[in-house]
Amino acid sequence: MNPRGGTLILQRKEHKCTFCPYTTWHKGNMKCHLLRHTGEKPFGCDVCPKRFASKSDLNRHALIHMRDRL
Ligand SMILES: [Zn+2]
Ligand SMILES: [Zn+2]
Repeated sequence: MNPRGGTLILQRKEHKCTFCPYTTWHKGNMKCHLLRHTGEKPFGCDVCPKRFASKSDLNRHALIHMRDRL
């Protein structure tokens, strides 16, 4: 059931990385990906001065400190 009764054709714009062959449809993904090349690391550790480019890297690092406390 489609309440609008029409087919919406979305014009998707492909974002291409200027540094490597990576492409994505999502602008946000590209922004996140570009950090790998620009070296920006927006995710900082609360416990030590280390910084990480992705949240998953930070989460993995945070386990080190949890082990320290135990
Ligand atoms: Zn890239
Ligand atoms: Zn840390």
